[in-house]
Amino acid sequence: MEFFQDDLNWNAKAKRRFRIIIVGAGIGGLSAAIGLKRSGHRVIVLEQVPVIAEVGAGIQLAPNSSRILGRFGVLEDVLEHTTLMVANVLKRWTNGREIGTAPIMPTVGQLYSAPMGSIHRGDLQRCLLEAAMYEGVDIRTSHRVVKVDENFEGRVQLSSGEWIEGDAVIAADGIKSDIRKQMVEAQGGVDHVVPTGDSAYRITIPKQRMQHNKQELQLLSENFGRRWMGPGGHVMAYPVKNNTIYNMVLLHPQKPGTETDESWTRKGDKAEMLDFYKSWDPMLRNLMSYVPEGELLEWTLNSHAPLTSWHENKCVLIGDACHPMLPYVAQGAAQAIEDAGVLQVCFASIKRISDIPLALKIYEMVRKSRGEAIQNSAAQTRKALHLADGPRQQERDANIAGAASGGSN
Ligand code: FAD
Repeated sequence: MEFFQDDLNWNAKAKRRFRIIIVGAGIGGLSAAIGLKRSGHRVIVLEQVPVIAEVGAGIQLAPNSSRILGRFGVLEDVLEHTTLMVANVLKRWTNGREIGTAPIMPTVGQLYSAPMGSIHRGDLQRCLLEAAMYEGVDIRTSHRVVKVDENFEGRVQLSSGEWIEGDAVIAADGIKSDIRKQMVEAQGGVDHVVPTGDSAYRITIPKQRMQHNKQELQLLSENFGRRWMGPGGHVMAYPVKNNTIYNMVLLHPQKPGTETDESWTRKGDKAEMLDFYKSWDPMLRNLMSYVPEGELLEWTLNSHAPLTSWHENKCVLIGDACHPMLPYVAQGAAQAIEDAGVLQVCFASIKRISDIPLALKIYEMVRKSRGEAIQNSAAQTRKALHLADGPRQQERDANIAGAASGGSN
């Protein structure tokens, strides 16, 4: 299939070369680094961890992000690790009965001229890291940023006490962003965690563990996303790592006392998981049984209080730092990549350091309403996915079945 060819030369050299400091080598930070470096800027990425190792599990790569990855020259590498999804199957929680199927590839790919698939977060991050290094981005690990200068002029201080000077700072430091906190306080607000009510167990099952069960192996070999919808929770599952690992995210209510926990790597309790899903599809429960004790990860899903502004003078927030969202519309990473795409364009059009606040204002005008709309749509989707059995659930399922069969309801 022919994918989108960018006819506007967004990668053209910028009018002026700036020194840009990016805080965080996650998905958003590395994407921004590639885009800005390709436009000719001098880019330093400061990352707190000593080694950028594979963390996380599966994420979905929607066309709005794969299209930008194409512009950044990384899509070909990324696709080598991506399972192109044929469809998403929506299923009944008690027995796995199919309620409806939403086609993805090639339909969505043709519609947007860009592919959609699933990928391990570690593979995506590694492809971005390699591309950033290839472009000549200066990536410094074990560099934890503790603050930006008080006037947000483009300087950051490291935990070592050293200051690094740039013309602008892009804070891509994720959901636990310290720079967001500093910015919100400078704007007279208070940054605080907003619990979403949900938590996620994350399971990755290697093919070897499913070897003896043909039906389960089929789950792995077919390029389908599957979503079981039930009261108070749902399960999203799809293959990653070239169909050698089955990735499952199991959504359920947050446990009291974990509401402000923002860890991605907290150990989950297998007995508690099996108890919550005790009346769910036996196939799902069988898949859950493959997780060895102590290997289950649980991730509390939180948001943050809405922000008045995403930038202050020459410092700007991108990705989860400014729009953390529930992963129910597969847009967490995609929105961070969109931020990077827009920043590249905003920085390309200015000539003076004094124009940087204007460029960041334009970025905010383009991105804030869209990012917040998608945050809200993820929160609304939660309500529909987690309905208890009853008239509203029946109406939802009838709508899904009608849409899948081409009906109008
Ligand atoms: P992230 O990708 O979270 O990157 C933020 C980066 O900033 C991290 O590398 C962090 O170490 C660094 N950082 C933070 N503070 C500082 C500081 N003060 N100084 C220097 N560096 C700093 N999403 C999913 O859908 N599925 C998953 O399985 C999944 N697993 C994840 C695992 C981890 C460990 C993390 C950090 C995120 C995970 N995500 C996952 C979230 C997903 O990557 C993000 O929602 C999305 O990609 C947005 O990316 P981001 O660049 O804004 O933030």
